Amino acid sequence: MKLGKRHFWSMGTMLVLVLTFLIISLYPLAATVYNYWRSNDTAVAKWLTTPTISNVKLNSNNNFPFEVAYMHARSQWGGAGINTTLNGTSWASNIVCYGGTRSQILAGANLVVTTSDAGACFGGSTFYQNITANGMSKQLKYQSTTQQVCIVDANRTTNAYKNVFTHEVGHALGWLGHSNFSNDIMWTTISEIFNLTSYEKNHLSQFY
Ligand SMILES: [Zn+2]
Repeated sequence: MKLGKRHFWSMGTMLVLVLTFLIISLYPLAATVYNYWRSNDTAVAKWLTTPTISNVKLNSNNNFPFEVAYMHARSQWGGAGINTTLNGTSWASNIVCYGGTRSQILAGANLVVTTSDAGACFGGSTFYQNITANGMSKQLKYQSTTQQVCIVDANRTTNAYKNVFTHEVGHALGWLGHSNFSNDIMWTTISEIFNLTSYEKNHLSQFY
């Protein structure tokens, strides 16, 4: 009788444990909620480790402030907490930035930048996880291939080059798509604006 009762309670405890385990496993872990979204794309990407970055100037035009704009772009994203490790003028980095005229970029780096583009970023990203950002379902990806940034030498102002460089490095760091706001550097069109807004910084930095 006593033995039977003890047996009954241990069966009950076992049942509670099994049910608890089933309930916990059936409910997915609460996903991280991200508070910002500034892009017209449904995805954003990130580097899983701090990327190396380098600059390769393909011409000798001293009026083309390529290095100045390069350091500016790094500093802008670094100010958002997204850092890159300098790797000189190596052609082998996670992010390689080429500068020159369209024909020099084609001849030197074998990359085609269209005549309507002041710059471009070529590179791939891979699906990482589904996320909720600003109450909407989005995708988080990770940068899985070398990102090739191209800055076209086209007799622009230094501020315009800073704008283009910061924009293209933004893509290379994972800012996919564009902003719908003309005061953002990640807007579709080149401008003289060279400081990132907090909105476009937050869009990417919340994932780093
Ligand atoms: Zn763009």
